[in-house]
Amino acid sequence: MDFKCAVIKGDGIGPDIVDQAIKLLDIVGEKYGHSFSYEEVLAGGVAIDATGHPLPQETIDVCKKSDAVILGAVGGPQWDHLPGNLRPEVALLGLRSALGLYANLRPAVMYKELQAACPIKDEIIGQGLDIMVVRELTGGIYFGERGQGTGENGAYSYDTMMYSEKEVERIARNAFDIAMKRGKKLTSVDKANVLENSRLWRKVVLEVAKDYPEVELNHLYVDNAAMQLVINPKQFDTIVTGNMFGDILSDEASMITGSIGMLPSASLGEGKIGMYEPIHGSAPDIAGQDKANPIATVLSMAMMLRYSFDLEEEAKAIEKAVENVLAAGYRTGDIMSPGGKLVGTKEMGRLLCEQI
Ligand code: NAD
Repeated sequence: MDFKCAVIKGDGIGPDIVDQAIKLLDIVGEKYGHSFSYEEVLAGGVAIDATGHPLPQETIDVCKKSDAVILGAVGGPQWDHLPGNLRPEVALLGLRSALGLYANLRPAVMYKELQAACPIKDEIIGQGLDIMVVRELTGGIYFGERGQGTGENGAYSYDTMMYSEKEVERIARNAFDIAMKRGKKLTSVDKANVLENSRLWRKVVLEVAKDYPEVELNHLYVDNAAMQLVINPKQFDTIVTGNMFGDILSDEASMITGSIGMLPSASLGEGKIGMYEPIHGSAPDIAGQDKANPIATVLSMAMMLRYSFDLEEEAKAIEKAVENVLAAGYRTGDIMSPGGKLVGTKEMGRLLCEQI
């Protein structure tokens, strides 16, 4: 089968890591009889330099016509002086909204070979960790009505947290579907003891749960969830939450794994199209030096195969390749520890391809 991918390499280490991910996809395609075609488009700083705008219309058009979007990273100090609406990061928000991507999936997986990087005690973390945080991405307080003014106590400002039933229902369904493919356990995080909006969230999640009798559902207030992630992270399988709580908790969960160069992400919408990218930024300090860890991007490709293309076996093959290369002791600089074999971006990419 042929799958059309829009490719946005972006800035900094973006081209370094995306090149490795594409090589790996081609090997997967050869082995399993699929073909992936790539159309490269500009976004971020390179797009500003070439066209004056971080997200040219052509990029949006190509992405919309594709089955999935592969993104490296955007941004860098040379564009930091630009006004907010012209900065490279505008491209990310613009793409999410143009493609209707409302669900952000961030797995936090800790490989036992990298346990030394985990900031949590061994007796708590045991033999590893595998949590999926599903964050609502296009609603809630980041998109609600906001304003500022001056009153009798001086200046004031406000942001509004609003979710409609429909918005909660679609992200809840998404999370239940994902939980069904994982450990069939879902934790919904809200602040229903204080926020009216969270009470609606909980009510809708409970309604949706009736369609998923196999999934064990529980609810946590966000403050408790933040604590539980540190004192007993292994209780979690899949977590679903709103935009702001998810922003914070997904960073917390991923940092438990200790290594930013290992963490993939997916953003999904109504159909099968998704955008797949590492969670890290463009790492300008190591760009073009063959030092970047390509694994976060490579694992994002596994997510693309699983969630956009329904190729579970192929996704697992990529994840297994990562495990094998780590087990064989190969490390890029960011995950290096005593006794490891230090390799660069390209060599790590080659070793991963060899495992497919
Ligand atoms: P960063 O994630 O780019 O880098 C933080 C640190 O982690 C750096 O020391 C970097 O060298 C290291 N690092 C990151 N990814 C790595 C990898 N794959 N392999 C090895 N080391 C890696 O964050 P930052 O320095 O705060 O931001 C740099 C630029 O990236 C900024 O312009 C920022 O706005 C942008 N950014 C973009 C995205 C995105 O495109 N999604 C996300 C975050 C930051």
